[in-house]
Amino acid sequence: MKAHCLCNAVRIETGEYREAGACHCGMCRRWGGGPLLAVHCGSAVTITGEEHLRAYRSSDWAERAFCSQCGSHLYYRFLPTGEYIIPAGLFEAGTALDFRSEIFIDHKPAYYDFANNTEKLTEAEVLAQYAPQ
Ligand SMILES: [Zn+2]
Ligand SMILES: [Zn+2]
Repeated sequence: MKAHCLCNAVRIETGEYREAGACHCGMCRRWGGGPLLAVHCGSAVTITGEEHLRAYRSSDWAERAFCSQCGSHLYYRFLPTGEYIIPAGLFEAGTALDFRSEIFIDHKPAYYDFANNTEKLTEAEVLAQYAPQ
């Protein structure tokens, strides 16, 4: 699948990953101004125009990248596995996605709700699922 930032300086190519999810955590909402709608794209991702990319180390386990020219958010990267979580809106028009899950649902503020029928996980459920075994 192909994605790019607003100014086209950074282009991303991924495998076929059609499941989109939302993260309602406070960091994602502060980063983007709203919940992060994104696609887990594994670790095999090709980035063109990397010289325009800046990464912010948002925690001990993750970084968040953006385009230094246009400010588009490019990915959240989970460092222990190298997995890229790419904002759904970066993918080219017509990319069919299926909105399946919402995480950190217990951090969602009361002023919005998605009507989609999704699997909803609390922070505790997410940590239990992703904590190193
Ligand atoms: Zn850009
Ligand atoms: Zn989040």
